[in-house]
Amino acid sequence: MAKLIDDKSIQRELNPAPTLKNNLIPIKVGIFVWRLLRKRIAVRVELDRRGIDLGTLLCPLCNDVVESVDHAIFSCKSAQDIWNGISKWWNLSLPPGSILDDLIKCSTSIGVESSKRKIWQAVVWVTCYLIWKNRNLKVFKNDCWAALKVIAEIQVKTYEWIKNRSRKPFLPWQQWLLLPASSPLTHDPG
Ligand SMILES: [Zn+2]
Repeated sequence: MAKLIDDKSIQRELNPAPTLKNNLIPIKVGIFVWRLLRKRIAVRVELDRRGIDLGTLLCPLCNDVVESVDHAIFSCKSAQDIWNGISKWWNLSLPPGSILDDLIKCSTSIGVESSKRKIWQAVVWVTCYLIWKNRNLKVFKNDCWAALKVIAEIQVKTYEWIKNRSRKPFLPWQQWLLLPASSPLTHDPG
């Protein structure tokens, strides 16, 4: 039954799967974010809209609020803890009333230098992607990572992916962890 209501049933509505592009991270993340912006991920409200009876529409993580896309990825307490950690890491604050769509499109200026915006966008997309993975871990395996563990995973994944994909040498790991926003983009080995 779990298989019937996972992302695939919604994904199949798209053929071929369009994607948003950010060549610093894998295409699968861009496809996920594209679906996210169109509300085509299997949150309970969207499944209900498609006639799938789930018994409850409440968020599986907080069990308190109806699970919409925005709630699952952005406003749930569990997601907010992760976004707060990410903003602290980048030393910036998401303005009150921030909207997930704006964050994904990087359409609101939140003080990230333009030369680093693509990297910031990669971090935002990977954050959405891993918040969703963590939500699915809860739904399908009844397991769930603490915010700190998800944040650490975001730092590791973005570093690996960006480092492997950028043409120039990328920041040393320690600098990526400490000052991603204020460091020069690339590490000068000389
Ligand atoms: Zn919730």
